[in-house]
Amino acid sequence: MGQFAVIGLGRFGTAASLELMKMGHSVLGVDTNNKVVDKMADQITHAVIADVTDREALEELGLDNYDVVLVAIGEDVQASLLCVVHLKSLAIPTIWVKATSHAQHLILSKLGVARIIHPEEEMGIRVAQALSYPMVNDYISIGNGEFVVEIDVSERLEGTSLSQVLKDVPDTIHVLLVKRRADITVHPPIEFTLQAKDVLVLLGQLGTLKTIAPKLV
Ligand code: ATP
Repeated sequence: MGQFAVIGLGRFGTAASLELMKMGHSVLGVDTNNKVVDKMADQITHAVIADVTDREALEELGLDNYDVVLVAIGEDVQASLLCVVHLKSLAIPTIWVKATSHAQHLILSKLGVARIIHPEEEMGIRVAQALSYPMVNDYISIGNGEFVVEIDVSERLEGTSLSQVLKDVPDTIHVLLVKRRADITVHPPIEFTLQAKDVLVLLGQLGTLKTIAPKLV
């Protein structure tokens, strides 16, 4: 179980906090707005009212024990940056920040945070990819152009074996697992017969995955 602090409980911070809780982590949420904090109080591990532009208030939160501090203040760029400066001066090891502009991105990269998130851009790219490859449920990059993708098996492929589906597919593509409702088959054999609504999890180069994804619809 990880320990996360989320500073700023707007839509973004709230969604991140609730998802972390669902995944079994401990979450401290911080906001200046008492209504927001009251609303979150029984949904996350701790919810605290504090103004994070105040270094002392921030220090009192004891954030150095947390795995990651996520700064999710959007509109008030000055407050977000000041908070990051204070977190750095408190030697908080891992800071992730939601950014809203390129200027803010530039300053954050100079301050040296672990990750800068641009939710609108990142979501826009994901939506474009989902529109272009509707069969791809989800994907993660693991570096060097390699991706793990999750693909829904269509009705058309009901009863087809993996070997038929993967015919002509380069052997640089690996089937990591097949999910069938609650059942997971890790490294399925090539004679494995697919059913509609199975979920295939593949590993390979993005370019190759893109060429084979349409064969699965
Ligand atoms: P979202 O799109 O996620 O709803 P947003 O980009 O509009 O949010 P804001 O609403 O500006 O971002 O900020 C998110 C939260 O951060 C708000 O609930 C706000 O009260 C809180 N916040 C702003 N400044 C501070 C601060 N100095 N200390 C603590 N919390 C703050």
